[in-house]
Amino acid sequence: MLSVKDLSVFYDGLQALFSVSLSVQREMFVCILGPNGAGKSTLLQTIAGMLPAKEGQIALEDRLIHRIPPHRIAAMGVAFVPEEGWLYPQMNVWENLLMGAYPKSARKELEKQTDLVFDLFPVLKERRNQLAETLSGGERQMLAIGRGLMSNPRLLMLDEPSLGLAPLVVKDIFSILETINREKKLTILLTEQNIFHALRLSQKAYLIENGKITMSGNSHDLLANEHIKKNYLGL
Ligand code: ATP
Repeated sequence: MLSVKDLSVFYDGLQALFSVSLSVQREMFVCILGPNGAGKSTLLQTIAGMLPAKEGQIALEDRLIHRIPPHRIAAMGVAFVPEEGWLYPQMNVWENLLMGAYPKSARKELEKQTDLVFDLFPVLKERRNQLAETLSGGERQMLAIGRGLMSNPRLLMLDEPSLGLAPLVVKDIFSILETINREKKLTILLTEQNIFHALRLSQKAYLIENGKITMSGNSHDLLANEHIKKNYLGL
């Protein structure tokens, strides 16, 4: 479904990604792991069309998307849930959700997607009239994911959804992501520093270090890998 080939990205003169390649098959749950500053956000933002690719290509199904602006990539079915959500704090929960439903294809499915979001996150239904800025950190993350789902995506990309959240909330959010993938059959690409959880949840994983993919494979196998165990799981 998504294929990234030899992607290099720069911030001014500074190179952040070095010839990164990866692929995500339909209905899979794939994660990109790596420490702070490795390039995870850069990679997702480039796929979402928010940063230019200096070299390489990105294809969604059979269409090249690396020169397409973000709103058109969103309209093609790619939802991006950025780190810390980027919500509209002065708008209420329902207004924030509606902002996710702006692509034409999403408006047709508004009722269905609203039911899905309220079913997955009943707290958002209860708080639909509450301003986003008054929500807890976990509720804000749920709202950010809900807003992504309102666009009726084929691919849901999430940048470190566990960041800054309490362990119990992280568990809830990961379990909802698992439901979205396994039961709703939505393809997910997620970045995480919480490597243990991410490997348990996903089917395939890539490790990114200093802007380069240094390891990839079946998540189950990576969980047993010595480099991962020693450097990232503290085992
Ligand atoms: P984190 O988990 O801290 O968000 P990350 O893996 O997502 O880390 P990126 O944010 O993609 O990493 O950063 C990759 C590299 O690019 C880092 O060296 C970072 O300092 C640099 N970088 C990120 N954003 C910018 C920017 N706006 N301008 C210049 N350099 C940047």
